[in-house]
Amino acid sequence: MKELMIIGGGSAGWMTAIYLNKKFNEGVKNLKITVLESPDIGIIGVGEATVHAVRYFFASMGIDEEELMREANGTYKTGILFRNWMKPVKGEMHEYFHPFEQQQAGGSLDISSQWFLSGGNLKGRYDEAVCISSALMKKGHGPKGVNSPEYQGVVPYGYHIDAVLMSKYLRKKAIEAGVIHKEATVREVTVKGGNISEIITKEGERYNADLFIDCTGFRGLLIERLKEDNWDSFTDALPCTKAVALQREMPKGETPRPYTTATALSNGWAWQIDLSNRQGTGYVYDGSKLSSEEAEAELREFLGDESKVIKSTHINMKVGCRKEFWIGNCITVGLSSGFIEPLESTGLHLINLGVGLLCTHMMSDEITQEVRHSYNRLMGGFFQDLKQFIVLHYCLTDRDDTEFWRAAPRTVDHCEWLKNQLLVWKNKVCEFQDLAGSYSTTFSDENYRYVLYGMQYYPKLQLQINIDQSMRTFENIKQMAKSAVATTMPHGDYLKTLKG
Ligand SMILES: Cc1cc2nc3c(=O)[nH]c(=O)nc-3n(C[C@H](O)[C@H](O)[C@H](O)COP(=O)(O)OP(=O)(O)OC[C@H]3O[C@@H](n4cnc5c(N)ncnc54)[C@H](O)[C@@H]3O)c2cc1C
Repeated sequence: MKELMIIGGGSAGWMTAIYLNKKFNEGVKNLKITVLESPDIGIIGVGEATVHAVRYFFASMGIDEEELMREANGTYKTGILFRNWMKPVKGEMHEYFHPFEQQQAGGSLDISSQWFLSGGNLKGRYDEAVCISSALMKKGHGPKGVNSPEYQGVVPYGYHIDAVLMSKYLRKKAIEAGVIHKEATVREVTVKGGNISEIITKEGERYNADLFIDCTGFRGLLIERLKEDNWDSFTDALPCTKAVALQREMPKGETPRPYTTATALSNGWAWQIDLSNRQGTGYVYDGSKLSSEEAEAELREFLGDESKVIKSTHINMKVGCRKEFWIGNCITVGLSSGFIEPLESTGLHLINLGVGLLCTHMMSDEITQEVRHSYNRLMGGFFQDLKQFIVLHYCLTDRDDTEFWRAAPRTVDHCEWLKNQLLVWKNKVCEFQDLAGSYSTTFSDENYRYVLYGMQYYPKLQLQINIDQSMRTFENIKQMAKSAVATTMPHGDYLKTLKG
């Protein structure tokens, strides 16, 4: 039996523990898994919104969805409402919704081409025309009906969850399933022949293992000992490297929204994530343009002062990823492997991808350099893909009110593939095949279109089509949206049904 030691008990540490324990130890015990976390160094405690694929992670771990929601003060999320990312449109703040739902189909052409060719872009928003989630979002309805089974809804969904409570819940579940838990702070990491041979704690205990998983967050305590110059910084393309997070009471009279809001401010953007008992907010900003005091003041002003702030935290973000995620017998998972600003809530998803890949890459007795190389190549690809998708949100802006926004269109200069594609997408819609050869496991053409057309980057198409037929297609989608609204209920009301 191999011994595996996970250092760090944040979301990364416990998601890794619970996953590998389920895959390697169910029925037959193949691995001795220990999680060692510091009682003195807290977890980052942000990371409260997820993408919808995280649902499959929890489902495959056999976790009771309602229990998770209750334990972590969770709410359901159908997508992200982007606000203020362009100049006001007809006097109104610019807005678009990026749902998890795929665009609906119908008619003889693809739905996006039909939308442009029937003049849809002159009349309204893309997301409102091609999916049903936008109608739910506007009504404040959650994704599930009273009779929706566990992990299923009328539309795909992710979660808003309290990050600290989720880690505690996963810890409890992992320990119940046989994972060993130690509390100690690592003081020394010993390296021999390119491998970690031993870790020594502050209390003088010594531990060795066949494999070490570095889940120590931005510190990267173990991996940093194995190689210098192992970091690929993305700050040239993504200059926001600071954040201030504020937890506050739910504003009076409001109920939890079933979507995340990402509002562009003067030098970055603010998130609003509603949990069942409070709101998580924060400002991700370019620290070369704003001091932390200025950022917090701007965020507080944006939020208004009608509700009480419970806690405020300032965070330095290390934006980029490892060049090698797996070196010798040490693998990074979570923030130690890399981080891209949380605009699309991808932190937990990258953990999910990382442990999934790790599981298949460590099933043989022999871990060769080729196996490590494969893991490193795939993880690197996920990060590079994600970087381009996040840059897409910035580079199409027409905002010119601050130096930050005036520079935003040039961020694409650091993303060669995206820069070329944008030229192509001037004359055709974005489609699945455009992403051939990429690593896109998180964001596909479906997601690109919501952002491209939400940011009003429209292709110039000219073709005569049967307008009546297209109108029928869009009318059909409207009817589907109506019946989705009828079968669901206001999000706050649905959450009350979980309490019982
Ligand atoms: C501003 C911000 C917003 C974010 N928003 C989102 C979001 O909306 N959605 C999302 O999915 N992700 C988000 N993320 C990312 C998400 O927070 C992380 O991916 C996730 O929490 C995983 O963190 P972690 O476990 O890697 O690190 P941490 O939570 O930092 O955990 C590190 C662990 O290592 C331990 N440790 C450190 N040093 C030692 C030592 N010497 N000895 C022993 N133990 C040690 C600590 O005790 C702790 O248990 C966000 C991140 C930031 C910075």
